Amino acid sequence: MLSVVIPVHNEAEVIPLLLPRLSKVCRSIGGSVELLFIDDGSRDNSVALLFQARLSNPDIRVLQLSRNFGKEAAVSAGLSHASGDAIVLLDADLQDPPELIPDMVREWQKGADVVLMKRRSRAGESWLKRTTASLFYRTINKISDAPIPVDTGDFRLMSRRTVDALNELPERNRYLKGMFAWVGMKTVTLEFDRDPRIAGQTKWNYLKLMHLAMEGITSFSTRPLRIALVLGLMAATCGGLFGTWEVIRALVYGISTPGYASMIAMITFLSGIQLLCVGLLGEYVGRIYMETKQRPVFIVAEDSNESARHFVPQL
Ligand code: UDP
Ligand code: MG
Repeated sequence: MLSVVIPVHNEAEVIPLLLPRLSKVCRSIGGSVELLFIDDGSRDNSVALLFQARLSNPDIRVLQLSRNFGKEAAVSAGLSHASGDAIVLLDADLQDPPELIPDMVREWQKGADVVLMKRRSRAGESWLKRTTASLFYRTINKISDAPIPVDTGDFRLMSRRTVDALNELPERNRYLKGMFAWVGMKTVTLEFDRDPRIAGQTKWNYLKLMHLAMEGITSFSTRPLRIALVLGLMAATCGGLFGTWEVIRALVYGISTPGYASMIAMITFLSGIQLLCVGLLGEYVGRIYMETKQRPVFIVAEDSNESARHFVPQL
């Protein structure tokens, strides 16, 4: 059995386009398929549309989170509730063509645990987005232990044991791409052309992406702390050498006129570095704080498969 996990957040414009393409693919696969939609606190008609489709297609299951928890949490919810022997992650906006699922399933049947979909092209993405993305991957792969494959998103198939392993990871700060890489398993990579979003608006802005990048770096490496250490050591050495030189100079040539400008420059520069390092430390401490609270990553309000009494939203 195959589960397709689809996080949905205000995707009413896309769902009517997505469903027919998905059902067509499901029919071509044969075997039973579970279409697990995770409603991540949508405030539009998305849920109603899904429930309407569910009347004619019993493969559709809708998990409603209690509010918007973010894509990473929605996907985590999907992974922990999916019942398939293989699980495919798919974006609702048709950027990941569902027609490729049969190819992924074939690789899985041949024995792969993870079928990664690598983007050959990134249509509809700006130059800025592509450059920042590539810069981010290069940075994170330099400092983290389990390298994250470049140009792969969440579009992938995972075997049951891979998903079980992922569900075992208890962290609250969920940087899924890093977690996928950390789990490892036998991986096959297929290439595809990523389409632009078919309708509606992207839910990401640069602030959110920056947050995700920070999350990625701090959850998978403590190397930045070491960089701070090295920076401090270097500054201290320079300061020590400079101080010694000044003392010797004062003894040999007498006291020279003080340099006001250079002093201000030094003080602001060094205090800047200090604040930066304190902030960096704060990032890690903040994460420790969040983890110690032990809160669940998501809360499921309704599961269309479980509650008989559930409220069915109307269009
Ligand atoms: N999504 C979600 N919760 C959020 C934001 C997005 O579940 O808070 C879903 C969204 O519905 C879509 C997928 O995550 O299925 C990818 O989102 P989007 O297309 O906006 O991101 P992009 O492709 O631009 O990175
Ligand atoms: Mg998208």
